[in-house]
Amino acid sequence: MTKIAPQPGIMEIALYEGGKATIDGRDDVLKLSSNENPLGAPPSAQLALAEAARNLHRYPSTDHAALREAIGEVHGLDPARIICGVGSDEVLQFICQAFSGPGDEIIHTAHGFSMYPVLIHMVGATPVCVPEAERVVDVDAILAAVSDKTRIVLLTNPGNPTGTLLPDADLQRLADGLPEDVLLVIDGAYTEYAKGFDGGTRLASDQPNVIMTRTFSKIYGLGGLRIGWGYGPKNLIDVMTRIRQPFNLSVVQLAAAEAAVRDRDWVETCAALNVQQRARLVGALRQLGVACDDSQTNFVLARFADAAEAAALDQVFQADGIIVRRVIGYGFPEALRITVGDAEQTGRVIATLTKWRERT
Ligand code: PMP
Repeated sequence: MTKIAPQPGIMEIALYEGGKATIDGRDDVLKLSSNENPLGAPPSAQLALAEAARNLHRYPSTDHAALREAIGEVHGLDPARIICGVGSDEVLQFICQAFSGPGDEIIHTAHGFSMYPVLIHMVGATPVCVPEAERVVDVDAILAAVSDKTRIVLLTNPGNPTGTLLPDADLQRLADGLPEDVLLVIDGAYTEYAKGFDGGTRLASDQPNVIMTRTFSKIYGLGGLRIGWGYGPKNLIDVMTRIRQPFNLSVVQLAAAEAAVRDRDWVETCAALNVQQRARLVGALRQLGVACDDSQTNFVLARFADAAEAAALDQVFQADGIIVRRVIGYGFPEALRITVGDAEQTGRVIATLTKWRERT
């Protein structure tokens, strides 16, 4: 018997189950389960990556100055207040590690991101999950859940897998209502798909207790490369920088991300395609009698009569080589989360939905 004991909290962590990537025996699989970009990675980033690969023998920049400057320039932010990580996952981890520990509570919304409870247990803190109201973040419920042990509130906006957006005025009300020693984190992984949303930029610029996190995994099409960033008050970013490993991002990650963030045409093209195909998918679902909210992201949460109906349709999708996401762990056993694809992919999804509806 081993006498080596894990740290408190670790055994509470459920092993992460990623989205399915293949279906046995098929080579025409359409993966719409992880909210990836249907156009792939931007050619500008692929070129920059190949160029940077000539320098694989060199250690990467430790301060990420060039990438932070590029992000700052494009988004109108102070580079000194930006921190970069291995996906926004790592930035969220820095936040939990730097500002909470055993005995503390971290509030997270029920429909945020499945990594939140993992990160919270990782630092020995206690997750406090606050339900949403009609699939939209409930500011009053969050404020009511704050105790004197609360250190952080983790909020995804727009939500995942809900796809709904909490309006600016409500975000402001939340920021204003929190005690000054509680940090509000606005996880804006899907910001670029949300109409008129600044990702929390204004709040993170103005308030002493707000940090926003962003990712290169969605609209920038670089999920496989793992790059994210956070922005907030300089004193908080400085604390997080102390626990960041000096070489957390490789030369190829840094180069590709810098090229991608400067590639505004790419972002515009991807956002426009998403608006078009999302409207088409939502329209088709509703026409077939499937409930779904207006999405402000690159996925749609389709809600069915019950879990059995969602499971049956999931099987029909798989038989047609299409992988969508069941979101049981998120508390939506009756729903499927479908990533918005390009025109041809959306056509395939609608064809399967139509066939399923005709049969039922
Ligand atoms: N936040 C949300 C809401 C997400 O959906 C995801 C990825 N699915 C992330 C954060 C993490 O993204 P990444 O680590 O790839 O930047």
